[in-house]
Amino acid sequence: MEIYLADLHSEVGKVFHFEEDFIPHCEDISFIEPVHVKLKLVNLGKEVLIKGSLKTKIKLVCSRCLREFPYELEAKIQEIYLWDIPIQRNISPGEIIELKDEDFKFVLEKESLFLDPLVEDIIRLNIPVKPLCRPDCKGLCPGCGQDLNLGECECSKKIQVDPRWEPLMKFMDKKEGNR
Ligand SMILES: [Zn+2]
Ligand SMILES: [Zn+2]
Repeated sequence: MEIYLADLHSEVGKVFHFEEDFIPHCEDISFIEPVHVKLKLVNLGKEVLIKGSLKTKIKLVCSRCLREFPYELEAKIQEIYLWDIPIQRNISPGEIIELKDEDFKFVLEKESLFLDPLVEDIIRLNIPVKPLCRPDCKGLCPGCGQDLNLGECECSKKIQVDPRWEPLMKFMDKKEGNR
């Protein structure tokens, strides 16, 4: 998805609104719904402020039960791009250069902005490290591998109390009973 910025570039202070659905080309993210991007672009003179949000639905694998589930992803977007400023400098090997703020910003080399990499980065940053199909997912039994969301397995019934703990367990039961 490309946004044409010639009109925005023509005047400092100009504001441009953009709203579109599209699917970025990234093979390792499976989209169930296209990404809905809503942006406001402001020409600040030297820079372009890009502010807005995105929303989509992707397929993730639950880190506990290993099942696929649909995940609704929403994120804010706020970036500043520099207009047309070449970062080419003649740096000799070994030379230490001081980095300015501008070196950490994106640069717009032409009067359009290719949105896919930005959108892709934001989506990746907002995918949970340990996705859960639901907050209370019970996961798989470490003994037999059964999905415990579907019911208890035989393993849990086989857990026996170490005989050495029995007096303590009885004591605990009594205490519970006294409450
Ligand atoms: Zn799960
Ligand atoms: Zn089990």
